[in-house]
Amino acid sequence: MDEFQLIRRYFAGLTPPAPGLVLGIGDDAAVLDWPAERQLVVSTDTLIAGRHFPEATSAYDVGWKALAVNLSDLAAMGAEPVAGLLALTLPAVSDDWLQDFARGFGGLAERHGLCLIGGDLTRGPLSLTVTVIGAVPRGQALTRAGARPGDRVLVTGTLGDAALALRQGPGSPLRARLDRPEPRVAAGLAARGRASAALDLSDGLAGDLRHVLAASGVGACIEVDRLPASSPFERQGLSTAERRALQLAGGDDYELCLCVPPAQEAALREALAPLRLSAIGQITAEPGLRFVDGQGQPLDLPYEGYRHF
Ligand code: ADP
Ligand code: MG
Repeated sequence: MDEFQLIRRYFAGLTPPAPGLVLGIGDDAAVLDWPAERQLVVSTDTLIAGRHFPEATSAYDVGWKALAVNLSDLAAMGAEPVAGLLALTLPAVSDDWLQDFARGFGGLAERHGLCLIGGDLTRGPLSLTVTVIGAVPRGQALTRAGARPGDRVLVTGTLGDAALALRQGPGSPLRARLDRPEPRVAAGLAARGRASAALDLSDGLAGDLRHVLAASGVGACIEVDRLPASSPFERQGLSTAERRALQLAGGDDYELCLCVPPAQEAALREALAPLRLSAIGQITAEPGLRFVDGQGQPLDLPYEGYRHF
């Protein structure tokens, strides 16, 4: 099968049509109508085998995760997913692999109403670049700037699961949290107009939160014992130091970190229920990121986020 047949077989028609789609897969580029009252929110992320996912990851999970990490960026902006592009580099073509991959990618795309409108297919070491296009009402994108002293720092879901799964290897009870992260798209939409700042946690809270602090010109105090953990995570018998390292600097959480004025917190909780939303600290006027224990005693923790360079 040549490249065009592969695209037709596995990718054309994989996802539901986007509103405003004029021309999708098959021409030199896609064409979308865009209403004047909406802004387009665009993001791209590359996943490389052996670096962003273990080489042995199933094709289904690779497809899922490549889209999930991109949807997570749209979620962090409070954007509604609209369309996506997929640039896929494969060492060899296998029907089984492509079929599973397309199911993983397509299943998640369908759940979030994202239409695959184009991409690329090349031969080489396995890597994937997904570009997503989302929409927000004009001026309403959530950004990293805007956090104010007194805002509560909230996180969705639980932290540390994926990092622990990576450390435990293939048999980990938390494996799905590493291979199939749930992008918090609905939470991002609900946070629009309520949160003062937001970002998604991909490289670990300790590093990622610093981006919000820098962009907003504020500091934060985080109560480390309040970081939410899943029950399987709790059952692993981790030491306090191990637990903190995984939750603060492990990465791959794909939860949202939201800064929220206290007056908005109840409404946000109600909008997000039953999704777990944990208050983990406060934004401060004093710059810098401080960690404290349950008694408010300062902790000297060395964590930064994951850095590629
Ligand atoms: P060109 O040579 O003009 O760049 P391609 O051969 O790369 O075109 O792609 C042909 C069409 O198929 C384009 O519309 C492109 O967006 C689409 N396409 C290519 N690869 C993929 C893919 N992996 N998933 C979805 N669409 C794809
Ligand atoms: Mg091309």
